[in-house]
Amino acid sequence: MKKILLIATGGTIASRHSGGGLSPAITAEELLGCIPGYQTFCEVDTVSPFSLDSTNVGPDQWMILTDLIERKYDYYNGFVICHGTDTMAYTAAALSYLIQNNRRPVVITGSQRPIDLEDTDARTNLLDSLRFSCDDRAYGVNLVFGGQVIAGTRAKKERSKSYNAFSSINYPPIAVIQDDRLAFYIDDKFKVTSPLKVSHELDRRVFLHKLIPGETGRVLDAMRDSVDAVIIESFGVGGIPDDGEGSYFKAIRAYVEAGKQVVMATQVVNEGSDMSVYEVGRVVQQEFQLPESFDMTLEACVTKTMWALGQTRDPEAFRELFYTPVNHDLLFVPKRA
Ligand code: ASP
Repeated sequence: MKKILLIATGGTIASRHSGGGLSPAITAEELLGCIPGYQTFCEVDTVSPFSLDSTNVGPDQWMILTDLIERKYDYYNGFVICHGTDTMAYTAAALSYLIQNNRRPVVITGSQRPIDLEDTDARTNLLDSLRFSCDDRAYGVNLVFGGQVIAGTRAKKERSKSYNAFSSINYPPIAVIQDDRLAFYIDDKFKVTSPLKVSHELDRRVFLHKLIPGETGRVLDAMRDSVDAVIIESFGVGGIPDDGEGSYFKAIRAYVEAGKQVVMATQVVNEGSDMSVYEVGRVVQQEFQLPESFDMTLEACVTKTMWALGQTRDPEAFRELFYTPVNHDLLFVPKRA
């Protein structure tokens, strides 16, 4: 029988009403106690390295999870992490970069309603996660939610209340789960041939700058000294604004000259960036050859930048890492990039 480690980290799935609103209170053992039936297909141990609303989960907690999975890797067939939904897509993407060439499943799940309510998505999501993590075809970091298995780099929370909160962006779901049965759309575990590679460094000084109409570069200038990288969340397929004096362009130049990394992305969720289409994009690409997100999610783009800068400060080496596909994160990189 497969052995799974259930890692409880808080979130709505484990929350109860306190005087001041929902907050994590249900233990890992209590979570398990809510889903009788799993014993027929797996043995589960539990651990709870922290218990937080995922609003408070970030790089410190990603490293705790990475270290825990690395330490326990040889003792379990798979790992199921119960996590708040709000930053779940970031954690799933971060773990995808931190734990690579991973033949064991690491499943991240949670719910929109606490597990001890009568009407809840939590019990289905947790049982689905255990079931997926016991399947021989499962590997790597995936998010299981609302009957879908989504690659850890492709998930986005698109609904704040509905049970189908997550979508797989610019990529099909890896599998679907219906009535306890798993149907795989992508069955490619055979591709993982290299040894497990775990990284322990992330650069946290990454800033995401969302453009709004009329932006002049003032905010970018103000942030420069406190960050190592900025990801510009531009409009449409991508471009930068011009106030008639090239202020934004100058702000980017100051970053590049200061040895900071600038990455172009888009605030449009689906279909991705392509800075070569419009003059407003080309002008900045021709001058600075900045890496761009293409079809990557913003969550993947942010965490990949943190991870890649944790490995190298050399702009060329960064570019190489950024454009090397990891856990299905990037399909389309034109040759010139
Ligand atoms: N605020 C909660 C969290 O992210 C929401 C949830 O889990 O659904 O921890």
